[in-house]
Amino acid sequence: MKLSHKPVMLNEVIKYLQPKRGDIIVDCTVGAGGHSYEIAKLILPEGKLIGIDQDREVLNLAQERLRDFKNCTLVHQNFRDINFVLQDLGIAKVDGLLFDLGLSSFQLDDPQRGFSFRSSGYLDMRMDRENSVTAFDLLNNLTSEELEKIFRQYSQERYARRVASAIMRARQEQVIETTIQLANIVKKAIPRRGAIHPATRVFQALRIAVNQELENLSAVLSKAINFLKPKGKICVLSFHSGEDRIVKNEFKKFFQSKTLHLLTKKPIISSKKEISDNPRARSAKLRIGEKI
Ligand code: SAH
Repeated sequence: MKLSHKPVMLNEVIKYLQPKRGDIIVDCTVGAGGHSYEIAKLILPEGKLIGIDQDREVLNLAQERLRDFKNCTLVHQNFRDINFVLQDLGIAKVDGLLFDLGLSSFQLDDPQRGFSFRSSGYLDMRMDRENSVTAFDLLNNLTSEELEKIFRQYSQERYARRVASAIMRARQEQVIETTIQLANIVKKAIPRRGAIHPATRVFQALRIAVNQELENLSAVLSKAINFLKPKGKICVLSFHSGEDRIVKNEFKKFFQSKTLHLLTKKPIISSKKEISDNPRARSAKLRIGEKI
């Protein structure tokens, strides 16, 4: 299987980020380097590109993709620690920041990572495999109430309680170890709605919980904005309502304190053409702020 990942709203990101020769840009979710590759062409060799990712395997792909560029530094770190990354590199201010949140197709499509119910794999779901808690741990140890809360809060699952109860029943018989096992439990517990697989929301919610995605996003935005030079841009691509709400509210706070111009009153969404070429673009929302 050939794995690939198409950068979402690449043209829009470049248009608003306006990377220029000599700029310092931090790609906080470098992934396989799709956006970074285009940014690097515009800012290097005089500029600097810093790529952060919490997934070492994905970072190796970025290394390969960006190997011909000088002044390109890749760092294995959670973006919530952006302040330490920049301090270590001796960088006080930057011209642009990019966040392309969530998972890359490489992670989603690799059965061994346990993110997808489309193939069987151990229920891992850690983006950073050096972290200790996996989806397996949450599923087999949390209480019914805790699981229900995760499903309801992180993916607005209507049948959160039913799914949580079904998980409790199933785990009395045997531990829940694989993606397919979990998908089947969910499928039996709730009615099928429309075209999306009934387990989609449950998998999304678990992944958000395992990786503390919303906590990390809430923690990073204000730190990151502090590093922007005047007129520096922050671009955030989010993929579900929980994420977009945090970005919207944080941006609003900075707008009210006269720290940020909002270049997008309403978030930008992908064109129909992009959505048909790239399913990951379906739920994407892009918001951009400019430092005052
Ligand atoms: N823009 C990239 C794709 C990014 S996909 C490209 O075009 O190739 C999102 C990436 O963000 C994933 O690789 C994931 O591991 C990383 N990521 C998600 N949350 C993170 C966090 N808190 N800290 C660092 N990296 C994170």
